[in-house]
Amino acid sequence: MADPELVDVVVVGLGVGGEEVAGRLAEAGLSVVGVERDLVGGECPYWGCVPSKMMIRAANAIAEARRVDGLAGSVEVRPDWAPVARRIREEATDTWDDTVAVQRFTGKGGRFVRGAARLDGPGRVRVGERVFQARHGIVLGTGTRPSVPPVDGLADTPYWTNRQAIEVEELPESLLVLGGGAIGLELAQVFARFGVRVTVVEALDRVLAVEEPEASEVAAAALRADGVEIHTGVRAERVSHDGQGFTLRGAGGAEFTADRLLVVTGRRAHLDELGLDTVGVDAGRRYLTVDDRLHVTEGIWAVGDVTGEGAFTHVAMYQAGIVVADVLDHARRADAGADPSGTASATGGAAGSGAGGSARAVPRADYRALPRVTFTDPEVGAVGLTEHQARERGVNVQVGLARLPSSARGWIHKAGNEGFVKLVADADEGVLIGATSVGPAGGEVLSALVVAVHAAVPLARLRQMIYAYPTFHRAIEDALRDMS
Ligand SMILES: Cc1cc2nc3c(=O)[nH]c(=O)nc-3n(C[C@H](O)[C@H](O)[C@H](O)COP(=O)(O)OP(=O)(O)OC[C@H]3O[C@@H](n4cnc5c(N)ncnc54)[C@H](O)[C@@H]3O)c2cc1C
Repeated sequence: MADPELVDVVVVGLGVGGEEVAGRLAEAGLSVVGVERDLVGGECPYWGCVPSKMMIRAANAIAEARRVDGLAGSVEVRPDWAPVARRIREEATDTWDDTVAVQRFTGKGGRFVRGAARLDGPGRVRVGERVFQARHGIVLGTGTRPSVPPVDGLADTPYWTNRQAIEVEELPESLLVLGGGAIGLELAQVFARFGVRVTVVEALDRVLAVEEPEASEVAAAALRADGVEIHTGVRAERVSHDGQGFTLRGAGGAEFTADRLLVVTGRRAHLDELGLDTVGVDAGRRYLTVDDRLHVTEGIWAVGDVTGEGAFTHVAMYQAGIVVADVLDHARRADAGADPSGTASATGGAAGSGAGGSARAVPRADYRALPRVTFTDPEVGAVGLTEHQARERGVNVQVGLARLPSSARGWIHKAGNEGFVKLVADADEGVLIGATSVGPAGGEVLSALVVAVHAAVPLARLRQMIYAYPTFHRAIEDALRDMS
């Protein structure tokens, strides 16, 4: 075995979170090895956010064109998947080639290693025959992979995950979507708008089950209007493929058939692959347990989906900022011979200033105002707690709701104006603790609500604000009025 190579930091997994951490630490002057077994950039640019939003942009253009009828004359729409597939191939993913992303990282001074990494004892990372000894720390940004339910027969069929759905060049005539969460609904609506006969099968009693029930209703109605069949409360029991198409049998005997089956029933971290036992960390959990500075254990940090704090690119980026600040703080302390345990940084103690700023500057993760957007049409934006979550926590809840079609802007907008703003307040504190914004610009309207929850803006102050007329976000004022 080769002698370990001594470096400052090893980052395992260069997805959104890992690439950000590795690049910024390298730019700060540390010697950083970044290890990636697949494509630098991870799921988001190649099989996630970016290509799926390109698909959605195209599908929404079709839907908007169809709304010309009754508003502005008539348009004949002939959907064609070829430009969408080409855009994903050429503009988004470089035909799933990460050369540019690797150069982006090495251009910042990082050292890139392609391969699957495992921890190999404290401070050590093994990639094949190579072993790296990290002086200042190891960052795990290994993400998640699709979680496929143990449905009888499913594993033996050529089902799709998000990867095949994003890479598709020719659309099937029909598609079964197993899973009515955000990704399932986004893709179901896209394919339906391009003429695919889509059926969504969801085990829970409503789609988008983590969001407000009113959001589930609006989203389901919108997809049905696009021709999507939605079956909720159906647990898949058996899947078969006869060489031509799929048959899915649900509990209770319901049967669904289609040319293709897309499985989008959640995602899972694969902790068992990381050698966590060699550093005394339990690999039997669903996600890596981290503290509010993303520490896993002495000398190891985690970032992104693998932490289970929210499977979103913006969470990975947010956490990356904290990890970078904390690793630099530790490195500075270690180089200065000060308390490398980090205890002092928690109390704003001994460190001087350096690349990472003062110890007091290391922020702590706070997910109270975590925003999430499902990019269906209408978009479903949400922040903080739902009404149900707030009640379960024993909060003295106050709720307000305003429907967009009865707002001035919604009425003007007409076709495609479905949506609402729902506010969840802590009546004792007089602040919002959650909000949902569904509508043509639901994700954008959400930003005001995120500020309100994040900064705990008093309800009285929100009521005194001036909301521009006639915007969709004026529904926030209407919902506040509904609350009082
Ligand atoms: C279809 C779809 C649409 C999405 N849309 C959105 C959206 O609109 N907005 C949003 O915020 N989020 C969206 N997401 C979620 C987003 O993609 C993830 O939250 C984000 O990619 C997480 O980044 P990450 O760095 O934690 O993990 P990943 O992007 O999964 O990257 C982890 C990397 O680690 C590598 N790796 C794993 N193990 C090892 C190992 N042992 N050695 C070396 N390398 C390893 C993997 O190959 C991978 O490249 C979407 C996801 C999907 C699937």
